[in-house]
Amino acid sequence: MRSVFRDDHEQFRVQVERFIANEIEPYYAQWERDGITPRALWRKAGEAGLLNCAIEAPHGQGGDFGHATVVIEALARANCLGIGFSIHSDMVAPYLAIFGTPAQQAKWLPRMTSGELIGAIAMTEPGAGSDLKAVRTRARREGDGWVLSGQKTFITNGVNAGLVIVLASTNPDLGARGLSLFVVEEGVPGFKKGPPLAKIGQHSQDTCELFFDDVCLSADALLGEEGAAFDYVTRELAQERLAIALRAAASLEGQLADAVSYLKERKVFGRRVVDYQNSRFKLADALSKSTMLRVFLDDCLARHMAGELEPVTAAIAKLNATDLLGQVLDDLLQLYGGYGYMSEYGIGRAWADARALRIFGGTSEILREIIGKQL
Ligand SMILES: Cc1cc2nc3c(=O)[nH]c(=O)nc-3n(C[C@H](O)[C@H](O)[C@H](O)COP(=O)(O)OP(=O)(O)OC[C@H]3O[C@@H](n4cnc5c(N)ncnc54)[C@H](O)[C@@H]3O)c2cc1C
Repeated sequence: MRSVFRDDHEQFRVQVERFIANEIEPYYAQWERDGITPRALWRKAGEAGLLNCAIEAPHGQGGDFGHATVVIEALARANCLGIGFSIHSDMVAPYLAIFGTPAQQAKWLPRMTSGELIGAIAMTEPGAGSDLKAVRTRARREGDGWVLSGQKTFITNGVNAGLVIVLASTNPDLGARGLSLFVVEEGVPGFKKGPPLAKIGQHSQDTCELFFDDVCLSADALLGEEGAAFDYVTRELAQERLAIALRAAASLEGQLADAVSYLKERKVFGRRVVDYQNSRFKLADALSKSTMLRVFLDDCLARHMAGELEPVTAAIAKLNATDLLGQVLDDLLQLYGGYGYMSEYGIGRAWADARALRIFGGTSEILREIIGKQL
């Protein structure tokens, strides 16, 4: 048992793994073909207590980030990286819980906890990804409210989302200091969604474009202070990056265990593939590095649960975990031979799904910049 978790986390893990085995794994291949996960899954996950684990009661499940981690890790170990629970629970809901007014929290969080309302966060635009200061989506004041216009892309949970937190400029003259966050609900006139984007992996994830054409918003759509979005985003990045690092480490461990089983079965030239020195060395490297990563990430997790995780440490965690995942999955796929390239085998899906982890939540290059600047 890892020392960062308590008994209640371990008990929760049993529940979560059972939920994934019964409600996700049997249907996941179909959702991959559909290009989307059904909304009904979110309701079931809400009923089972898998959403908003770390959001305080009464609006959330009242657990801590250890419970959130249990969900993140179990989904990644089960090779279900396309399920967008973590963005919903560990990124969108915290923005509402931390920066929202009591009225905003009461309006949206309980429905997100039950899975009735699915959350997304829309920052990236066709012309602004790493450099968020360049966003062109505008919100201008009109009467008591706002009028929002612009376009977002690559938005996780976008098609299913009933609530989207949108980053927009409220004062282009101020650059980063002129950015604000708005909560936009599905169905308001002028808000349209594109179909799921065709991606090289995470096919069951309904990542899409969002369009805002003079969308009229009431005053309470503004989340937090006008002009404070850049500070909010910066503050929330440590948790977001840790969550991605935890996904990567759990995916690595799950795929390594599966690969060992497969390579013990598969025979080539009369010998098990695992008995070739090259295979054992690759597996030994993967196990050694993932063990080091696990110790570091558990330390990051403990610090985060104590409110002490530094943003640079979170950047180091994401950079290392996602880079290592990429290298190891590539080696493991090679050891599967042609079967590794077939969709039927989990390793191929894991390999393609994992690629996005080095891109979203801050690319590896941006993370190196952040880490390098601190030297
Ligand atoms: C599957 C998926 C899901 C996503 N989900 C969401 C979501 O839910 N919400 C959301 O808002 N966004 C989401 N994104 C977008 C993601 O956050 C961006 O793709 C990412 O921030 C990079 O931005 P970009 O694609 O515009 O690349 P660019 O910013 O154009 O970068 C291009 C290249 O330049 C490099 N680069 C950029 N700046 C520097 C620098 N200073 N020094 C060195 N190199 C640099 C980058 O590392 C990259 O290699 C998602 C993306 C993917 C792939």
